[in-house]
Amino acid sequence: MSPPRQAIVVGAGISGLACALRLAETGIGVRVLEAAEQPGGMISTVERDGFLFESGPQSFQMTPDLQELIRAANFESELIEADPKTPRYVLLDGKLHPAPMSPPTLLSTSLLGMGSKVRVLSEAFRHSKPPAHDESFADFVRRKFGTEILEHLAGPFVSGVFAGDPEQLSLRSTFPTMAVWEEEYGSIIRGAMKSRGDGPRTRPTLAGFKRGMASFIGALARKLGTGVTNGIRIDSLESAGNVGWSIHCTGTRTPEVLPAGAIVIATPAYEAARLVNKFAKGLSATLSGIPYAPVAVVAQGYRREHVGHALNGFGFLVPRKEGLRTLGNVWNSSLFPGRAPAGMVAITSFIGGAMDPHVVDMDEEPIADQVRKEIGKVLQITGPPVARQVWRHPKALPQYNLGHAERVQAIQDELENCRGIFVTGNYLEGPSIGSCISQGFRAAKSVLEHLSR
Ligand SMILES: Cc1cc2nc3c(=O)[nH]c(=O)nc-3n(C[C@H](O)[C@H](O)[C@H](O)COP(=O)(O)OP(=O)(O)OC[C@H]3O[C@@H](n4cnc5c(N)ncnc54)[C@H](O)[C@@H]3O)c2cc1C
Repeated sequence: MSPPRQAIVVGAGISGLACALRLAETGIGVRVLEAAEQPGGMISTVERDGFLFESGPQSFQMTPDLQELIRAANFESELIEADPKTPRYVLLDGKLHPAPMSPPTLLSTSLLGMGSKVRVLSEAFRHSKPPAHDESFADFVRRKFGTEILEHLAGPFVSGVFAGDPEQLSLRSTFPTMAVWEEEYGSIIRGAMKSRGDGPRTRPTLAGFKRGMASFIGALARKLGTGVTNGIRIDSLESAGNVGWSIHCTGTRTPEVLPAGAIVIATPAYEAARLVNKFAKGLSATLSGIPYAPVAVVAQGYRREHVGHALNGFGFLVPRKEGLRTLGNVWNSSLFPGRAPAGMVAITSFIGGAMDPHVVDMDEEPIADQVRKEIGKVLQITGPPVARQVWRHPKALPQYNLGHAERVQAIQDELENCRGIFVTGNYLEGPSIGSCISQGFRAAKSVLEHLSR
């Protein structure tokens, strides 16, 4: 008897939903089992008093796979794009400075001294060889561009994306193209120029959805229809031979046997580790070796007249030497329409990360007060917030630390011994929404190949 042409996806975050939809499109029966009462995982949207606040991603960079998923969900009309020229700021010596977004602005930026500017621009004329070992992001930037670039620009940027420690993050795993450019061309600038070719220079599109990120999750779940079941936390899995999979859910005594030829585990790595522990101890140990950084998200609404700064941009990032706990923030109402009522502004700040992990142990009120105090000074805020929402994510983002590429390779190798088991999620090849979708699609392709064998 051949295994059923059905798949179970554990976890209805964006990775799991993308995988499930791709499988459903190709005629595979899919069930998505989600522990929470709502799908979306790290993505959720709260509408309150005319404000629209996001628990995790505030926007995303468009990719071909993301565009395809939006089309598949008939959601194109909900898409909104930010102005690609929107400036981003970096806090330095207590003041906001526009971050350089192009070579001419690099020359004029007040964030760098002349020595750093010359070093960056002359990089195209120098040749370097990457070290054989997995190099940290911080070591790479120091070696190629110097300490000032690391502290004022590159460090705050990676803290913003990964909530990570630049001394621990692996260059090869966080910015693989940079590692390739140095390997192939001996220069990052020459590599970037070659990869761009002769076409016009375009910035990647920064986008969102009119009614927030969760509206897209809702559209994906609707498209999958009754295939998504919320409120089921899977505790462990075991193969039931050709019949399907024996699934143990929290709160049930006996496992339920569900017909499926394949299981896609689309949970965070530490949960995946728990699910496979009964039958794949090595895989479980490797998965649980992926560290996560905590982040608290503080969304606040203010009266426009209480904010002295024009908020003419995306938001600002904070170098660690400024001594603030806030990592950075997004000026939501400047980026997209419909984020705040008339006469109000919405600002979302991020605090914590791998270098300040205890923030999430604090209560919501002191976290919000800390952020209000810190950003209040910078943005000249003179009145209290009129709306507020705090999320504490103790395990917000996987850390692509030194040795990450080897861990991912070990996961792939160990999966070879687990017939019918697949993993996907933001801990493998990139945490961005676009990357999660591409990984979900790749997992679906592997499931199809497996079921067609
Ligand atoms: C604060 C923050 C800001 C971010 N900002 C951006 C941004 O601006 N742009 C961007 O592109 N990306 C951003 N990201 C990254 C992006 O949001 C995430 O990487 C992505 O949403 C993760 O999706 P996922 O499906 O891989 O995992 P998750 O969203 O974690 O989904 C996993 C799902 O599995 C479920 N689950 C877990 N265990 C079980 C179990 N045992 N049984 C059943 N279900 C289970 C969970 O409940 C969850 O729904 C941000 C992330 C955070 C935390």
